[in-house]
Amino acid sequence: MPMRLDSPVEKVKGIGKTNADKLRHAGIETIADLLLLLPLRYQDRSRRATFATAIPGETYTFLATVQSASQYYKGKKSIQRAIFADESGKVNAIWFNNTFINQTLQKALATNKTNSPQYFLVSGSINDKRMLVQATIEKYQIDGESIHTDRIVPLYTQRSKIPVGTIRRILKQLLDSHSELLTKEDWLITQQVQSAFPYIPTLNDTLHSLHFPNNEESIKIARKRLALDEICLLIAHSKSIKETWNKTESHFRIDAKKSARIELPKTIPFKLTSEQKNAIQDIYTDYAQPQPMNRLLVGDVGSGKTIVAGMAALALLNENHNVAFVAPTQILAQQHYQTFCKLFPDIQIKLITGSKQSKTELQTISKKTLFVGTHSVINRLQTIQPALLIFDEQHRFGVNHRSNHLHLLPYTPHLLTMTATPIPRSYMLTIFNHLHTSTIQALPPGRKTTKTWLLPESKRESSYSWIANHITEQKSQIVQVCPFISPSREDAFKEIAAATEYYKNIQKYLKQAFPHIRVGMLHGKLPLKEKELVTQKLYNREIDWLVTTPVIEVGLDLPKADIIIIEGSERFGLASLHQMRGRVGRAGQQGYCLLFTSKNAHQTKERLKYFTTESNGFLLAEYDLKTRGGGNIFNTEQHGQDGLSFADWADLELINNARNIFDTYLDNTSHWNSILSATSQHNQKNKSTQQSKIASN
Ligand code: ADP
Ligand code: MG
Repeated sequence: MPMRLDSPVEKVKGIGKTNADKLRHAGIETIADLLLLLPLRYQDRSRRATFATAIPGETYTFLATVQSASQYYKGKKSIQRAIFADESGKVNAIWFNNTFINQTLQKALATNKTNSPQYFLVSGSINDKRMLVQATIEKYQIDGESIHTDRIVPLYTQRSKIPVGTIRRILKQLLDSHSELLTKEDWLITQQVQSAFPYIPTLNDTLHSLHFPNNEESIKIARKRLALDEICLLIAHSKSIKETWNKTESHFRIDAKKSARIELPKTIPFKLTSEQKNAIQDIYTDYAQPQPMNRLLVGDVGSGKTIVAGMAALALLNENHNVAFVAPTQILAQQHYQTFCKLFPDIQIKLITGSKQSKTELQTISKKTLFVGTHSVINRLQTIQPALLIFDEQHRFGVNHRSNHLHLLPYTPHLLTMTATPIPRSYMLTIFNHLHTSTIQALPPGRKTTKTWLLPESKRESSYSWIANHITEQKSQIVQVCPFISPSREDAFKEIAAATEYYKNIQKYLKQAFPHIRVGMLHGKLPLKEKELVTQKLYNREIDWLVTTPVIEVGLDLPKADIIIIEGSERFGLASLHQMRGRVGRAGQQGYCLLFTSKNAHQTKERLKYFTTESNGFLLAEYDLKTRGGGNIFNTEQHGQDGLSFADWADLELINNARNIFDTYLDNTSHWNSILSATSQHNQKNKSTQQSKIASN
C-alpha cells in the first residue's frame, strides 16, 4: 500500500509501536494528523555567535567541539556537565536529568581520539556565570541540514509525552521524504487554485514552513494558508453533514397535530414571547419531518432560550423518550437542572455529575427522563439513548463538529444547539449551512437596560461602599468577576489566585463596615462538592457577594442579582462582556455593570466606552468582529479554544475567500471525503480534549 495522508502513523519511518501508541493516545492517528500538529511556539535559534562574542542571556547557536563530559547523581536527580570549545574560547555547560546528552558526548569524546573531532551545533544562552544551561546540541554535518539548532525551531505541546526532539525528527523525515505525496494530495489543488490566488503556497511548502520555517514571514504565510484549509474543511464538513442528514431517517417523529396540543405547563410563571413561540413551533415542525431535526437556536443573553429547550424536550418526553441536555460547565449543568425542576415539576429529570452514576443505575431509570450534565452526558449516550440532544453552547462558536459524537448511537437523534453568539449571514451560508436557524431577538418584556460604567481605580473604594449599601437596602446579590488572563494552564492558576485575592480583600473590607454581608467564592478548580454547596447557597440567597471567574460566571441565572463588577475588563471581547452583563437585572429590576481595567489598558478604553453605551448584543458582536486584531505568531497557544486552530472567526475576508475557492475549484464530494476521513479523527479528539478543558475550568 502506498503512503497516503490517512495512513496510520506507524507507516512513517522512525515511528515504532511505542511511539505510535503514544501519538494515538494524544489523538494523532494519521499522517495528516501528524503533519497538522500545530507548533505551540517557535524559538529563534538561527543567530550564530562565538563564546567570546555572545551577549549573556541571548539565544545563539555556537559551533563547538566537546572537551570533557561527566555525569553525577544528587539523590534521584542526575546532573550532566561538559566543556565546549570554539575558536574563541571555552564554556562550561550543565544539564539536569539528561543522561542521553552524556551518552552522546562520551561517544564524541571517544571518537575524537582517533578521528577528526566531532563538531556540534550548540543552541542556548550563556548566563552571567559564563555557563550554558540546558543547551540543545546536535551533531554538525557539513552538507546536512540541522533540525533542532541553527534555525527557527518549533516547540510542540507535551500532549503526546514524546520528546519534542523526536517529534521534530519524525516530521522532518516525513516532510523530506514525502513531498510527492503532499503534492498529489494537496486538498486545495493549489496548482489550479494559484491561477486565481497566486499567493497561496502549496501544501508541501506550507507544511515545511509551519514546522521548519526559514523566517517569521514564512510562518505567517503558512498559517494563512492553513486557515484557508481549515475553513474549506468546515465548508466541506457542513456540506457532507447536510447530504447525510437529508438521507437520514427520523426515528422519533411527532405528528404536527399532536404537538400542536402541547400546552405550556401551568408552573411557568410568565407568558412566552412571540419569538419564543415561533422557535418552539419551528422545532415541533421539525419533529414532524422524515429527517431528524438539526437546529440552531440563536438568542441574546437572557432572551429565554432555556424554556424553548424545555418545551422541545417536553414533546419527546411525552412520547416516552429520553432527552439529553449538555451544558458547557458543571455549574451550569447543575443550574439548568434546578431551573428545569422548577419550571417542569412534572417531568423526571436526572443530573449527571462526573462519573458518579454507574451504567446500571442509569439503565434502571425508566424512560421519559431528561438527563442534564456536561460532556459526561455524551459519554453515556449509548445508555441514555436520547431522542433529542440539546447543546447549550453559551457564547462559543463550536457548533459544527457536534455530530461527530453521534456515531455512538445506532440512530440519529434530533439535535438542538443553543448559542448567544449572533452568527453572521455569510457563516450561516457556508460553515453552518447544514443547520436550520431560529432566532430570538427581543428580550422578555419589562427588562431594563443595565447601566454600565467604566471606572478608574480611584473610584474603587467609593464603589464598594455604594454597592454594600445597595445590598443592604435592596437585599440583592452582586457578582464580581475576576481577571481572566489566558486559558493556558499556568495562567489559569493566576486567574484563581486573583479571585482568591479579591475574595480575601473584600471579606476584609466588608468585615469592618458591613459585617452582615456574606461573601462567597466560586471557581472551576473547587472540588465538585464545594461547587455544589456554593451554587446551592447562591440559590438559597445565603451569599450576597459572589467572587468568581469568568468561565463559571457565564450563564449563571440569579434573578436577584443586580450589580456585576468585571475586573480586567479590557481582556474580554465585547460579546463576553455582554454575556456577563446579561446576568443582572433578570427579574426586571434595574441592573448595574461596573467595569474596572488593569493598569496599562489605555488602548482598549474606546472599545469599553462603546460597550457602556450599547446594549444590543448583535451590534456589540459585530463591533468585536470588525475591530479584533490577529494573534501573535510566536505564541499560538490562545488558538484552538473556539474550535479553530489556524483560522480566526473574526476574519470575514478569509471566510469569503474560502467560500470562493471552495465553490470554484473544490466543490466535489469525493475529493473531500478522503480528506475528511484523514483528519476527522483529529478533529474529534481535539474536540473531546477541548471539551474536558472547558468543563474543568
Ligand atoms: P438565555 O437565553 O440566556 O439562556 P434564560 O433562558 O436563562 O436565558 O432566561 C433568562 C431569564 O428570563 C430567566 O430567568 C427566565 O425565567 C426568564 N424568562 C424567559 N422567558 C421569559 C418570558 N417570556 N417572560 C418573562 N421572563 C422570561
Ligand atoms: Mg442559557
